[in-house]
Amino acid sequence: MLKKAVMYVRVSSKEQAEQGFSPEAQRVALYDFARRNGFEVAKEFEEAETAKDSRRKEFAAMLAYVKAKDIKHILVEKTDRLHRNFTDYVAIEELTDNFGVTVWLVKEGGSIGKDSRASDKLMHGLKTVLAKGFIDNLKEEVKKGFDIKISHGEYPRQAPLGYLNAKDPLNPKHNIVIPDPANRQLIVKMFEYYASGIYSMKSLITKLEAEGLTLNLPPVIKSGKLYVSTVQRCLVNTFYVGRFEWNGKMIQGSYEPLIASELWAKVQDVISGRNLNMRKEHNVMPFAYKGMFTCGVCARSITAEKAKGRYNYYHCTKYNTNCDQPWVKEETIDERFDKLTNILKISDAGVAFVTAALKQSLSQKREGEDKAFESLVADQTRLKKRIDALYEDRLDKKITESFYDAKFADYTKQLESLEVRMAKHNRADISYYQFGCRILELAENAEKLAKEATPDEKRELAQFLLSNSKLTDGEPIFSLKQPYFAIEKRSPCDDRLSWQGRGESNPR
Ligand SMILES: [Zn+2]
Repeated sequence: MLKKAVMYVRVSSKEQAEQGFSPEAQRVALYDFARRNGFEVAKEFEEAETAKDSRRKEFAAMLAYVKAKDIKHILVEKTDRLHRNFTDYVAIEELTDNFGVTVWLVKEGGSIGKDSRASDKLMHGLKTVLAKGFIDNLKEEVKKGFDIKISHGEYPRQAPLGYLNAKDPLNPKHNIVIPDPANRQLIVKMFEYYASGIYSMKSLITKLEAEGLTLNLPPVIKSGKLYVSTVQRCLVNTFYVGRFEWNGKMIQGSYEPLIASELWAKVQDVISGRNLNMRKEHNVMPFAYKGMFTCGVCARSITAEKAKGRYNYYHCTKYNTNCDQPWVKEETIDERFDKLTNILKISDAGVAFVTAALKQSLSQKREGEDKAFESLVADQTRLKKRIDALYEDRLDKKITESFYDAKFADYTKQLESLEVRMAKHNRADISYYQFGCRILELAENAEKLAKEATPDEKRELAQFLLSNSKLTDGEPIFSLKQPYFAIEKRSPCDDRLSWQGRGESNPR
């Protein structure tokens, strides 16, 4: 008996003009698939999307139809035909998980359903999140959602250190911010000690740590170390006195302030006074990008120096060459680096989504590793048995002593190498998910970090992101390390070529 299915075809007005994107081409492919796989198409849904109206009436109609008629199959050309934003994605997920619907991705191959392989689901998720336009849509929706939350007195972002995001016990749909019992005292003491005026940022951290006041964060996300930059940010954050900035406006929060206004004001006085002194004392700034570039022409290293008494310059060492590459101002590199970090940014919801996908892929990876580990254990058991048998043979004088010695040495060596491999397996397990989260966290925060960073921090960030970058004809050409390269490549930003076009990207 034929299985009842619906098909969903979508073409934007822009795509209509291009070949291979006509609704007819999609329809032909879908009918062909249906015929070969025993589906009967109960209804067609065709969406013609225009630039002005991106609401998708047919998509909504299809969802309703599938539920009402108890259809179990949806045929679609590929992922990016199916959903354009996160809301759509969730709607489809509801169908697959709660209504037992399977979505057949005819061109990509594979299907999404309750029983799909985890790897198919993961690929589907990643394709969705990386689809052109998806992240932009996501940003818009997230922003809309935020504005509504703000008008209800909610704080829609991640609460700063010392607070937690939580559900309102009286109204579980409402998100609230509450003091974090694990870090509250750290914040309070930070302000109190610093207001005394006798601590520098560094000695403040030493003092706090001496009292056992360290960062209490989930270890998967961050290390517990308290950095100067973190303390600096906390001490000027109005959030602790109950106010936060939103779209350029100060909003009075509905949560409990951790710091009294007088104490906060005192801390600001100390900070501004100290900044003046600091500038006088430390006229020397470190070079943010030292050691990170090579010359794009002669491949010698690039060195940094202060010229004309004020500006930091980077230039080729010209070692044993007549290289005449121009010097480059640090500001120029800064400017390009800020642009780069801007491109890396993806939205909070996007990050949460990819994190979920990473988690899923981790559990798959674990499965695979468990199997590999089991086979190592089996090898180990077999070798041990052989050694036992060898020993018995020797006792029974079935084999000579020299034969025994040679075999014993051989087996022992094999056993040792097995044990080394087993130990590696145990280690490999831990860092995968952590690494993925770190990548995303950085992608999310790179822009902000780059703006607020001290030269030291900027250098750290640059080293984390970049590999093998070059200075050519006065222009920095950055190469991103592999995982960031992947994110940047997906970015819809168009001016990428202007700063990276000439560089060979460097998949390390
Ligand atoms: Zn050179």
